[in-house]
Amino acid sequence: MAFETRETKNLSPVAADIAPALLRWYEDNARDLPWRDGPKSRKRIGRPAAKPDPYRVWLSEIMLQQTTVATVTPRYAQFLERWPTIEAMAAAPMDEILGQWAGLGYYARARNLHKCAASVTRDHGGNFPDTEEALRKLPGIGDYTAAAIAAIAFDRPAIVVDGNIERVVSRLFSIETPLPAAKSKIKDHARDFWPKKRAGDFAQSLMDLGAVVCRPKTPLCHACPVSKHCAAFSAGRAEEFPKRAQKKPRPKRVGAVFALKNSMGDILFERRPEKGLLGGMQGLPGTAWTETLNGDVTVDAPVRARWRHKGEVTHIFTHFHLTLDVYVARAPKGFRRATDQLWIAPKHARLPSVMKKAVELATDKEGKQ
Ligand code: SF4
Repeated sequence: MAFETRETKNLSPVAADIAPALLRWYEDNARDLPWRDGPKSRKRIGRPAAKPDPYRVWLSEIMLQQTTVATVTPRYAQFLERWPTIEAMAAAPMDEILGQWAGLGYYARARNLHKCAASVTRDHGGNFPDTEEALRKLPGIGDYTAAAIAAIAFDRPAIVVDGNIERVVSRLFSIETPLPAAKSKIKDHARDFWPKKRAGDFAQSLMDLGAVVCRPKTPLCHACPVSKHCAAFSAGRAEEFPKRAQKKPRPKRVGAVFALKNSMGDILFERRPEKGLLGGMQGLPGTAWTETLNGDVTVDAPVRARWRHKGEVTHIFTHFHLTLDVYVARAPKGFRRATDQLWIAPKHARLPSVMKKAVELATDKEGKQ
């Protein structure tokens, strides 16, 4: 397979061998993923590669941030079925996108998904721009995503470094600097062997190698196409890389939520403020999330009622650990919901994970009564 590296004449023999070895490996070992027209599906159907659809590449890359392939795969299919084109997504109400996103976490991604779809439709005639620089100007597209779309959708020679690629490169060159400080060093090493052509396939070959061979634990070095060039492997230290700076323990926050039930068994939900955590998502009314909770928290409840403490749920966010006390009550006679509140049957509510846990506890008949 023809390829050409950026500085072919100046490359060390090691760097010059990495790209062809990985591209050869990718031909036979690429993962079958629904957002990709990979070598296996091309071979099965016996045709050359179809041009990747930038909309699908973008959607999959946004969904895969902080989320596993196994979780994203069915949700990606649902998104595509509902919004097969970027124009369809741009025309959808934000609430529908947020509802469809429920449970995937990092909800700013969903809000930016909608903003980005609107911007591409309005400002670019429905076509994603094809350079990293122009892609970075779109809502929700940072350095990594711009590089990934430029390489995978447009075959631009962009250097793409995700978590899998960080691991592979830090092992190949036994980079002792801990992450995140090592990021620029990793990118510099990657730049040395990144091919000018088939940059998208090459990025995906590294991602796949990281996912199935150069795994975080027990890497399969005997099956690795670049093991002869791997410094960590030859030193018997593969699992030591990447080095990571010690994380500070997560701070703790506490709060309370209130599950008010009506005679139909519906629960009162309200939309969380647009800005901030879980912004724009449905949730139970509740207190602010702070370091301590003092006094009678039910003063923050949506109505005076006979609130009973049902228990607590915990959830780990990136920057803190949350414990929520869950209170339940029947709506008193004459209670009227505010205009931004809705009665929803618990099974129909599209909720972020922490609120789902709270509602499950609130509706659990086995729990404290
Ligand atoms: Fe990773 Fe092992 Fe390959 Fe090195 S030899 S890149 S540690 S799988």
